[in-house]
Amino acid sequence: MRRYLVAGNWKMNLGPAAGRSLAAAVAGSLKGRKLRGDVLVCPPFVTIPAVAAAADGNPLLLGAQNCGDQDGGAFTGEIAPSMLKEAGVSYVIIGHSERRQYQREDDDLLVRKINLLHAAGLKAIFCYGELLAERKAGREREVVRAQLEGVLPRLQYADPYNTVLAYEPVWAIGTGETATPEQAQQMHAWSREVAGRLLGEQPAASLRILYGGSCKASNALDLFSRPDVDGGLIGGASLKVEDFVGIVDGAEASRD
Ligand code: PEP
Repeated sequence: MRRYLVAGNWKMNLGPAAGRSLAAAVAGSLKGRKLRGDVLVCPPFVTIPAVAAAADGNPLLLGAQNCGDQDGGAFTGEIAPSMLKEAGVSYVIIGHSERRQYQREDDDLLVRKINLLHAAGLKAIFCYGELLAERKAGREREVVRAQLEGVLPRLQYADPYNTVLAYEPVWAIGTGETATPEQAQQMHAWSREVAGRLLGEQPAASLRILYGGSCKASNALDLFSRPDVDGGLIGGASLKVEDFVGIVDGAEASRD
């Protein structure tokens, strides 16, 4: 069975002081537990060192929300994957819908970032998902297939260990409207089928596919119990210790 991954995306919230205290509280609640999956938080860049210190010695992994597409040099304002690695980061979120929308990130850029972060020994959480209008037009499978086809075959080092998919229907992100477990399962099974064609059946069977979009403690168990849903990428509910740990509890219960 695939290990679940519960990943908190803090977005542009929590500076070093607030981030340290949330990470310490989350790490404290996980301490000593034998988890059947991985738990990760992705703070803003400047909060990463504080979270690394708070999580030290605890089963709480550290991620980043983005990285540069070059590994150093005259690129003002960018952060190289190797720097994130040095700071203790193990996962990087790539292609989040907010970055696709506000920073106009496209497939070429996402491919460059993932190839670079893989080369630096980091793991990618690759986000994709349809817009509301696309779902209303019945085009969600076609859109998701195109997003996966635009990136997966161009990854030089991708394997099920260093690559995680995150299906995030854009209409569910930050809206309070969650995909039903049936909708999530349908799209995850489709993603795995498409990934199978692009990467091979065996790797696709081992690939973790997270669900993201208004996931909370009250719906985590139902979502994560579906056969192709291997955990979640969590925005709003990752900012409060009881909500986030409640989601981890749901993930654990889904493996009973
Ligand atoms: C996200 O930003 O990836 C996300 C899933 O947000 P939320 O949980 O708030 O919908």
